[in-house]
Amino acid sequence: MKRQYTSPHLTVFESELFRTTSTCIVTDAYLLLVDPNWLPSEIKTIQAFAAAQSAGKEKHLLFTHSDYDHIIGYGAFPGFKTIASQRFVDNPKANEQLQQTIAWDDEHYIRRDYPLSYPTIQHAIAGDGQDLRIGPDDYRFYQAPGHNYDGLLTFNRSRGILIVGDYLSNIEFPYVYHSFAAYRATLNTLETIIASGEVQILITGHGDHTTNREEMERRICKDRAYLDGVETAVRSGQPFDFAKLMAGYDFPIVMGAFHEKNLLVAKREFEG
Ligand SMILES: [Zn+2]
Repeated sequence: MKRQYTSPHLTVFESELFRTTSTCIVTDAYLLLVDPNWLPSEIKTIQAFAAAQSAGKEKHLLFTHSDYDHIIGYGAFPGFKTIASQRFVDNPKANEQLQQTIAWDDEHYIRRDYPLSYPTIQHAIAGDGQDLRIGPDDYRFYQAPGHNYDGLLTFNRSRGILIVGDYLSNIEFPYVYHSFAAYRATLNTLETIIASGEVQILITGHGDHTTNREEMERRICKDRAYLDGVETAVRSGQPFDFAKLMAGYDFPIVMGAFHEKNLLVAKREFEG
């Protein structure tokens, strides 16, 4: 399995599917694994890595949000202390997400040596800017709705590691399943965190991490421009220039479908 970033304390694995990332922070005291995913062979690689790195340490498993691609590895890591947002716990669509993992495996003839289930969360994060100490590290969490309803931003302040889930991707424009207004608010939260100058590395759910602050800011600008463009198109009734958008992205068929879904969400939101 590809590792797009490796340092003594941080490894970012990358799946061959949708370039989905799985992040692992390792210290002398604990191991924190984020969104372990996709294929059985990839999960095995991450399991082996975590097992080798976690002897005698606390083991934590964090979910950035409940989209099925991010929870599909849950059952492979029993005994880990789980962390996610309170909304993830209260999610009325929990069963829908679980059913999507089951349907996806069925569709692709995938067998796993662990059961698929919706994650049970031991540590639910309810507030915004909530602090948590894990081992020697200070973490701060921010609610991140917009992409979906239950997103969570995870900032390891001690090491400058910001894990954002499905925001600020360099290979996807915003996928807005939940709300444009909430998505914009989350971009504002990200902008504030990045402006603190404390972020050394930003890890997105799909695509490349970045250690460059200008690149982080560029991604915010680009995503705002997309949201504005969709809103303008919906409010004015003028067509959105999808071909122009796709000059910056690689997969026009599937991304066309996501863009169409965004337009439906925008119509619902802006036309009342
Ligand atoms: Zn995702």
